Amino acid sequence: MAESCIFCRIARGEIPAQMVANNKEMAAFRDLNPQAPVHILIIPKKHIGSLDDAADSDLLGRMMALAAAIARQEKIAKTGYRTVINTGKDGGQSVDHLHIHLLGGRAMTWPPG
Ligand code: AMP
Repeated sequence: MAESCIFCRIARGEIPAQMVANNKEMAAFRDLNPQAPVHILIIPKKHIGSLDDAADSDLLGRMMALAAAIARQEKIAKTGYRTVINTGKDGGQSVDHLHIHLLGGRAMTWPPG
């Protein structure tokens, strides 16, 4: 865990967040600045800076599986949804702690901006 990392602090319960899932390994909470009716972030509790730093493919698989389970829980699985991992400067990553965006509840456009 990184001391000042905002998502580590959410994982430790030091900063409030609207949690939708929380277990020993991962947390999922609603984005503070939602870009869709459903916008949830799935994070590992262990500090991993970005997808480029992620060496544990089993953990990545479990994060994706949790995103799909939350999509069903949020009732957006049938209409569809988007999962996004922004990585680094060109990827538009603004928080340096690996996270999956789960977006749904409206039709998405392509290509992304
Ligand atoms: P990214 O730009 O891919 O790094 O995404 C970071 C996301 O974290 C953005 O969508 C922010 O709105 C969101 N965010 C930043 N701080 C918080 C917070 N305290 N609680 C919930 N979401 C946050």
